[in-house]
Amino acid sequence: MRYVLLTLMAACSLLGQPYDVVLVNGRAMDPETNLDAVRDIAINGNRIAAISASPLRGRVEIDATGMVVAPGFIDLHQHSQTTEAYRYKAMDGVTTALELEVGVSAVREWYAARDGKALINFGATSGHIPALKAVMHEAYDGLVPRDAGVNRAPTEAEGRAILDSVRQGLDPGALCIGIGLIYTPKVPREQILELFELAAQRHVPVYVHVRSGGPVEPGGIAALQEVFADVLLSGAQLHVAHITTTGRQETRTLLRMIEEARNRGFDITTEAYPYDAAATDIASEALAEGWQTRAGIDYGDLQWAATGERLTADTFARYRMQGGIVVMHMIPDEMARLAVADPTVMIASDGIIENGKGHPRAAGSYARVLGRYVREQQALSLMDALRKMSLLPAQRLAIYSKGRLQVGADADITVFDPKRVIDRATYDNPGQYSEGILYVLVGGVFVVRDGNLVDGVAPGRGIHR
Ligand SMILES: [Zn+2]
Repeated sequence: MRYVLLTLMAACSLLGQPYDVVLVNGRAMDPETNLDAVRDIAINGNRIAAISASPLRGRVEIDATGMVVAPGFIDLHQHSQTTEAYRYKAMDGVTTALELEVGVSAVREWYAARDGKALINFGATSGHIPALKAVMHEAYDGLVPRDAGVNRAPTEAEGRAILDSVRQGLDPGALCIGIGLIYTPKVPREQILELFELAAQRHVPVYVHVRSGGPVEPGGIAALQEVFADVLLSGAQLHVAHITTTGRQETRTLLRMIEEARNRGFDITTEAYPYDAAATDIASEALAEGWQTRAGIDYGDLQWAATGERLTADTFARYRMQGGIVVMHMIPDEMARLAVADPTVMIASDGIIENGKGHPRAAGSYARVLGRYVREQQALSLMDALRKMSLLPAQRLAIYSKGRLQVGADADITVFDPKRVIDRATYDNPGQYSEGILYVLVGGVFVVRDGNLVDGVAPGRGIHR
C-alpha cells in the first residue's frame, strides 16, 4: 500500500503536476535520518510527497528561507483537551497533543467528541484515575480525586471493576494505560501490579506519575524503585511522567537510575517540561498534610492560578476546600536545565490551561526549549531538541508515520524562525501565544499561517493504537 502510494506520488511529479503545497528553500531537519540541509518539501493531501534539493512546484508555495522545517511536535502530556488549549498548542508548534497521564475513561466517547472538530491531533490513555473515580463514585469532579477515591481503598470487587474498565478502554484504541500513584495512595499495590500486567499483555506502555517525589523519604528514589519492580515482574514498558517534578534536587540521580535500567534492557523512558515550577490540583493528595516538609516549600511558594496570587495559610485552607490549579515553585532551575539538555528525556508540557489561566507550560514549552535552551543557553543542539519533541515521543508510542520529516510521513510540519522563536507565557499571564512559530500544518492543512492561527479548519485526527 505504502509502495503504491509512493509510486503514485513519484508519477505525479514526473507528469509535472504541481504539488498541493511546497515549503520552499527551508532548512529541513529530520531527527531520524539527521537530514539537516536546505530542501523544498512538497505535500500532497495529508502526506509528505517529495523532499528535494532542486525546486519543486506547488499550487501553494511558502517561502521558508531562513526557517527551520521540522516534524510537528508531539506532546505526550497535555491535560487540557479543549478548543482553547489546542490553539495554544498549535501556536507553540504542537501538531499532536495527548492526555496520557491521567487519561480518560469512556474512551470511545472521548475520541468521538473531538472527531472532526479538533485543530490538532489528539489522543489519550485508558486512565486508571478516571476509571477509579467512576467505580468508586468520587464526588469531586476535578482531574484527580479528593473524596471517596482517596479516603478509602477500593474493595476487591471495585478493584476488579476498575481493572475491567481500564481493559475495555484499550479496545477502542487508547494509546496506553495512565496511572497516577500519588493521587490514589490507598489503592492496593497488587491492583497496581495488575495494571502493569494488563499493559504487558496488550503490548502498550504504562504512563505513570509515581507515588512520591523529592529527597524526603519516601521520595523520588523509592517511588522509581516501586515502578521498576512492577516492570521487572510484569515485563511492561514504562514511561515516567515529568522527571523534574518527581526528582527536584535529585533529578540527576533519577535520570541515572532510568539510564541504568535501560542499559539492563528495560524499556523505560521519561520526559520533562522546561520550567522551574510544577502545578496540580490544590485539593489533591499531592498537597495533603505534610506537603511543606515533603516538597521543601511553604505557602508563599504556591501561586493560585486563577488570580496569580501567592498563598498564605488562610488562603491555602480556603482554596483547598474549593479545589483548582495551584502552581508550585519547587524545581531547582539547574535541574530543569539538566533534564531539558539530556538527549534521552522527551519534552512534554503537562499542559493545563482554562480561560487563559493555568501554568505557562501549556502554551510555551516548545518555543521555550528552542528559544531559551537551544538558542540563548546552547544547552543542547537544535537537532537533539527536535528529536526530543517529535521522534522520541512517536517511537515511545510506536507511531511510525509521525515525528519524521520524510517522504510518505504524515504532513504534520512545524516551520519556525530559529532566530526569533520564544515563549511568551509567564506564571502571571500563562495565556500568551509563543512567537516565531510561523507555519504549522496538520495532515497537510495549515493551522498556523504567517504566524497567525487559521480559523475554520479542523484537520486534527484521533490517534489510536
Ligand atoms: Zn503528573
